[in-house]
Amino acid sequence: MKPSLIVHGGAWDIPDDAVAACNEGCHNALAAGWRILASGGSAIDAVEAAVVVLEDDPVFDAGYGSHLNADGQVECDAIVMDGTTLRAGAAAGLQRLKNPIRLARKILEACPHMMLIGTGAERFARDSGLALCEPQELVSKAEWEAYGRCSQDEHAAIHHRGHEQGTVGAVALDRHGRLFAATSTGGTCCKLPGRVGDSPLIGCGCYADSQAGGVSCTGYGEAIMKIVMAKSAVDFLRRESLNGEHPAGDTVLGAERAAQDAVRLLALRGQATGGLILVDRFGTPAFAFNTPRMAYGYVGPDGLFITSV
Ligand code: ASP
Repeated sequence: MKPSLIVHGGAWDIPDDAVAACNEGCHNALAAGWRILASGGSAIDAVEAAVVVLEDDPVFDAGYGSHLNADGQVECDAIVMDGTTLRAGAAAGLQRLKNPIRLARKILEACPHMMLIGTGAERFARDSGLALCEPQELVSKAEWEAYGRCSQDEHAAIHHRGHEQGTVGAVALDRHGRLFAATSTGGTCCKLPGRVGDSPLIGCGCYADSQAGGVSCTGYGEAIMKIVMAKSAVDFLRRESLNGEHPAGDTVLGAERAAQDAVRLLALRGQATGGLILVDRFGTPAFAFNTPRMAYGYVGPDGLFITSV
């Protein structure tokens, strides 16, 4: 099986002066994940490596540089899902994990439950050998300044100019046909403490089923939850392969149509904007968004990295 990898760094009104950094971040994430897949490694290692790079990059809203909540604190959420077993590992409300995706993987692989939150999740992380950090270590200068502007006035998009970049995600298929999807986020700016969006919820911000495909979403979480967007996109992929119009080797149209239909559903029934990336069961990458911009990147059929914002 030919491996496949796609990543995203959020779908919002990304300003011109952040475009280069978003492209570079997506390129670096592809490089980290593709190194693993190209040498025969597993899809879970690839999505974890790609998402760690995106979490560490303050231009994106995940890990270090996450948006701050109304109390000026970072609260992160993350999920990884295995398309073979349909098992997920998810965590929400994290304040002491530099790389929330690493905890999501530990939960997937070593926890009897599929989702942990807050201090319980952090205790599980520590017991699993992951290092905890101080909450302030996740706060970037740009986010602290944006929070300062909001605190002096009402929360308004204008105060956040320059940091509309969003949630991150990755979907990978490896040579052995294993399919994994992952999503990691700091959530929305100035959210109420304790707010959890779509990102760590199975079927909403992330879904993977080896019989159809894997998906990672971004955008307005409260609307993405309404339409269970990642699972909807996987159902659209299943419809495409049931239709049989696009046999293996000619799956591009089907994958693109599934991605676009999910975003259309978000617009029509969720009345909102966002985007998604996916890899279908044949390894075809696709994406769609209805925001002014989305940061994304994938590995083309010739092995070249394609990134765009
Ligand atoms: N979907 C995320 C959330 O609502 C935000 C984003 O995608 O940037 O938490």
